[in-house]
Amino acid sequence: MINLESLRSNPALLKLDLYCKGIRMDDSCFIEEDGGRKIMRTRAGLGSGLEAILPGELWTNIPVSEPFAQSSPFTLHREKGKYMVRLEGADVMPVKLSPRPHWYDEATATGKPMTRIGTLQGTYLGVYQAKVCEYWTQKPMKTNCKFCSVGLNLGVDDADDKSVEEVMEVIRAARRESGITYVDFNTGHYTGDTYLDILEPYILRIKKELGLLVGVQTPPHRDLKRYDHLREIGVNRVSFCFEIFDRKIFEEICPGKHTEYGLDYYLEAIRYCATLGSKGPADEPWLANGEIIAGLEPAESSIAAIDWITSVGAVPTVCVFRPLVGTDLEDAAPPETEEMIPVFRRLYEACMERGLPIGVAPGIHVSLVMLPDECRALSDKRYLWQSAKLGVMKRVFGRQYERKLRRVEEQHAAAGAA
Ligand code: SF4
Repeated sequence: MINLESLRSNPALLKLDLYCKGIRMDDSCFIEEDGGRKIMRTRAGLGSGLEAILPGELWTNIPVSEPFAQSSPFTLHREKGKYMVRLEGADVMPVKLSPRPHWYDEATATGKPMTRIGTLQGTYLGVYQAKVCEYWTQKPMKTNCKFCSVGLNLGVDDADDKSVEEVMEVIRAARRESGITYVDFNTGHYTGDTYLDILEPYILRIKKELGLLVGVQTPPHRDLKRYDHLREIGVNRVSFCFEIFDRKIFEEICPGKHTEYGLDYYLEAIRYCATLGSKGPADEPWLANGEIIAGLEPAESSIAAIDWITSVGAVPTVCVFRPLVGTDLEDAAPPETEEMIPVFRRLYEACMERGLPIGVAPGIHVSLVMLPDECRALSDKRYLWQSAKLGVMKRVFGRQYERKLRRVEEQHAAAGAA
């Protein structure tokens, strides 16, 4: 049962409850004046809220702008310069604001605000690359996913044209000042499956000059061999958002994805990519993700999706449905936390049962979703051997990766000086 005591002792439960209920900001809060990040509508409609850090280094993005958040039992207060989450007036937990770096207030050499090129989602840099997803411009009728706000956002928070130089400039600033270790590219659907061709020049430059981890979230390319090539050039993560496992609801909520690719092809791409780990450069880790949105279908269906994704060796990414203002589903209700707990508990347990490498990547905290390892606190199962193994992997990989980053940066600097 969720009550004040359970929330006080479990930041992961609070993170989940805040996704579902949002928070009201008391007049005492001065987010930007206190060094916090401006509230932006970014990333496929999931990151509309307040970026904050709960105890236990749980980075989160709390809904504040949507109507449902206006009736939340949670409020945020500022006292003596510190922030506190309260539930119906009672203190629950202190939170920190996710720091706003200086580069958030700077422009590229071409004069674009850097935050229109990329934004921090927790501690990594997210870049929505290229023009608006074509489902938003399709004639005679738009076929965009009904929860999505990308077509509403572009031109507001995101620049629609981002050159390689501009993106590199922002990545360098984010690496220098925010210490990012990972860059995530996200595109919509484009006729001719051009998304991977568009992204490749950016990926090659990042790998050559900075060596950072890079992820790619696009529709599933018709030629699956293209993912072998991504693996070869050092991409570290491919993610396929099929969103919904229930076929009928998938068709209804994601009409563009249904007509263009179909659910089965999304699943095939995940299955295929999950096999590529042993094929590429040994010093570049590889992960295939299947992404779903919990709260748009019955919890049992989300759990079935998690079980399917993990069964093929991929890691699920599970978002909590957020009815964003301006989207087709803006009047829908967000999910109940009680329904979400079994889904996120299963996320952790399924990954541990399958021995998947969760929580290993260095320095990555994600604000838009509950990561599988963050859901440990929702389960009473203990996987001692697997936990110990993941702890060792995290330490070893973290050390190797830092060395590699230094080497790549030094080599690039030396090549520039020569
Ligand atoms: S594929 Fe769907 S979720 Fe992704 S950008 Fe297009 S409309 Fe939005």
